[in-house]
Amino acid sequence: TKYVYFFGGKTAEGNGQMRDLLGGKGANLAEMCLIGIPVPPGFTITTEVCAAYYEHGKKIPEEVLPQIDEALKRVEALVGKKFGDSADPLLVSVRSGAALSMPGMMNTILNLGLTDASVEGLARKTNNPRFAYDSYRRLIDMFGSTAMGVDHDHFEHELQQMKEAKGVKLDTDLNAEDLKELVRRYKAVYRKHVGDDFPQDPRKQLMLAIQAVFNSWMGKKAVEYRRIERITGLKGTAVNVQAMVFGNMGNTSGTGVAFTRDPNTGENVFYGDYLINAQGEDVVAGIRTPEPISRLKEVMPQVYEQLCDIRQKLEQHYKDMQDIEFTVQEGVLYMLQTRAGKRTGTAAVRIAVDMVREGLIDERTAVLRVNPESLNHLLLPQLDPKANIKPVAQGIAASPGAASGIVLLSADAVVEHHEKHPQDPIILVRKETSPEDVAGMHLAVGILTSTGGKSSHAAVVARGWGKPCVVGCEAVKISEEAGTITIAGHTVKAGEYITINGTTGDVMIGKVPTVLPKITGDFATLMEWADKYRKLRVRTNADSPADAAKAREFGAEGIGLCRTEHMFFGEGRILAMREMILASDEAGRRAALAKIEPLQREDFIGIFEAMDGYPVTIRLLDPPLHEFLPHDHAAQEELAQSLGVPVAKIKERVDELHEFNPMMGFRGCRLPIVYPEIAEMQVRAIIEAAIEVHRRGKKVLPEIMVPLVGTIEELRFIKQRIVAVAEECMAKAGVRIEYQIGTMIEVPRAALTADQIAEDAEFFSFGTNDLTQMTFGFSRDDIKSFMPTYLREKILPVDPFQSIDVKGVGQLIEIGVRKGRESRQSKYGQHLKVGICGEHGGDPDSIRFCHQVGMDYVSCSPFRVPIARLAAAQAAL
Ligand code: ADP
Ligand code: MG
Ligand code: MG
Repeated sequence: TKYVYFFGGKTAEGNGQMRDLLGGKGANLAEMCLIGIPVPPGFTITTEVCAAYYEHGKKIPEEVLPQIDEALKRVEALVGKKFGDSADPLLVSVRSGAALSMPGMMNTILNLGLTDASVEGLARKTNNPRFAYDSYRRLIDMFGSTAMGVDHDHFEHELQQMKEAKGVKLDTDLNAEDLKELVRRYKAVYRKHVGDDFPQDPRKQLMLAIQAVFNSWMGKKAVEYRRIERITGLKGTAVNVQAMVFGNMGNTSGTGVAFTRDPNTGENVFYGDYLINAQGEDVVAGIRTPEPISRLKEVMPQVYEQLCDIRQKLEQHYKDMQDIEFTVQEGVLYMLQTRAGKRTGTAAVRIAVDMVREGLIDERTAVLRVNPESLNHLLLPQLDPKANIKPVAQGIAASPGAASGIVLLSADAVVEHHEKHPQDPIILVRKETSPEDVAGMHLAVGILTSTGGKSSHAAVVARGWGKPCVVGCEAVKISEEAGTITIAGHTVKAGEYITINGTTGDVMIGKVPTVLPKITGDFATLMEWADKYRKLRVRTNADSPADAAKAREFGAEGIGLCRTEHMFFGEGRILAMREMILASDEAGRRAALAKIEPLQREDFIGIFEAMDGYPVTIRLLDPPLHEFLPHDHAAQEELAQSLGVPVAKIKERVDELHEFNPMMGFRGCRLPIVYPEIAEMQVRAIIEAAIEVHRRGKKVLPEIMVPLVGTIEELRFIKQRIVAVAEECMAKAGVRIEYQIGTMIEVPRAALTADQIAEDAEFFSFGTNDLTQMTFGFSRDDIKSFMPTYLREKILPVDPFQSIDVKGVGQLIEIGVRKGRESRQSKYGQHLKVGICGEHGGDPDSIRFCHQVGMDYVSCSPFRVPIARLAAAQAAL
């Protein structure tokens, strides 16, 4: 088997398509060689070797070794230096790279091959001892921390001491002698913590480094990242061994990272940073403040021009925005990496639409290019322009959107606080962030750092998740001991509110109100294209006129679920509701319901008006009645007072309604079977509202939906009453309204007997929350105690309440759709309309499934409507 793939010169054994085997980095290094871009030669050890490494108890299989030797020889031949030569050594980097990029998760070791002997040789050969010792001290640091697990801070500490002793600020101010001394100290640190001397055998260095890369695949950080990003099914990481080029050889050398377009806004401008006389991750690590790429034009005009050509060439070749890494060695440019650049949702949309205009890609590709989830970004809250906005400081706008939240100073504090108070919005404030912080960053609504640039860890991660982020805000001083921050003279304690605007970089004290954006410009264009290709309709779950109107703006084509229970909690209603529940006979219940009826009618009028011309599915009352009664003594006392009944009576009724398993108790269609007057009141309110809105000249399409049906008899019983009331209302008004009666399919029995149920249901709506709950027998409200373990132990691939369990719940849905449709067709020659209204209706993977089983529509919360439109289009393409 071929385990090692060479690249260099203008050839390569691999290519850009071989990501699974060579990792993204290796595949693209090969591809760049093939299209004639200057890349230092090297070779890629495949991801299969990583898998084999773990299968063999963390050993590199013997048969790989000769292939490594052979590839190394080819590199030596191309560069004209020998690995391990002490007079003129070939140095290499050892770089990780899986099929999907995991920024900052894996470790790279540079300058490998340097030893006490060859560092002298390098100094002599290059006539640059400063450079030679700088490279060596970096190697000991990187090798020690990455391969041997020495805390990087120990090395950093020595460096700081040295800089202090010398009275200099920057590492570039240290001279050759200083660095030589630093090497001595680094080696001491290494010996102290590893218990052995820094290896003087280059070959041993290389093998240990390769193993370190494999080990990092199962490192905590990498595992955590894959968990959060739901990355599964990869073989492992590849290892790239590549001849070094040096950005730290002096002032005609340097290193940089760039994006071929602005990853924040998507604007077609070259965007990035570079540092003179620097190596590797210096730019990203915030060691010195990097210069914007545009300045390179003045400093190294030829290199800049060449870089601009490569920028063009890469975009033309990959037909996508690229994230590139480069190094300049004494005026000569080398490319070290290219990959599709991470971008905000805003940028993704703009780039996709621009590239269609530029003729690089077609509309379909544009629609497929944008991750539906990333549209969240364009729907992010912005600061209310009418608010009193007083920025106290400005940092670098690193990831757009505005957020208000309480200040917390560490990722752990965020995780802890979130556990206790999941509702609190949190802004994580740090000097800088690192991969250890990702769990806390994930839970925060926004991130603010006092150092770092546009490509710092915080910025990259926040952009990836679409979280507002401001970095490099130097006015922010953090005191972890005091638990406070000061921003330009204002002191803010942990737990107090600040607001950040990641679109402008502004930081404000306290809470600033935010508003929601509109779909215009490129966003609207992309949505139009999506609508052209999708087959599924997209409705929304809304139970207020305001939500309904918002959803219409976002493109909703009707309401798929209007929950009526929220309407009973409003002012002037909850008391009547309680009166109804406490009433001892039907007459008492009807009297109480009569008080709610006009209010409920008004609600429906508002919703029908907002949805003019579009269908509105209204679900009859669903939750168990006890949810409407107060459970603590004081509140029961109060209720007794206002209703003028003894408190004992209330207690008695609460006890009576108590259930051991309320989610499977007296709820859904079981309520109107026992108390038909509840449904009758609701239907009257619906039909009368429909008549009223019809009279106002609008088109109303009400769909009355009965929840939790398990048998056809249940549906029939209620349907009879619905029809009777509706007919009566219409006869009285002398107006006919087109309305439908259907059911939710959320009990497994309903799915299995869908053929029978479809005889009386004009539509089905899959309530996948309950269906999942009842199929698995998982109580949705109690999964906290075991779901994390289930996911960690891979007993379930994903939380089935977030993404449809295709294998199980999906089968029930498939059966339900098929049987229901066949039966309705054969009995009435009618198409049974089928949709979904569970939480899953806004999840792109679930939407794909809904498309595949041939549903007519999905329904989701208003903010997910654009996401669902795009996901539906992608499912269809
Ligand atoms: P990551 O995946 O974290 O970006 P990389 O493998 O890309 O890690 O390495 C980080 C940086 O190290 C690169 O951006 C580049 O600046 C530097 N580097 C890696 N290999 C070489 C090399 N052969 N010569 C010079 N610099 C290198
Ligand atoms: Mg990195
Ligand atoms: Mg890189």
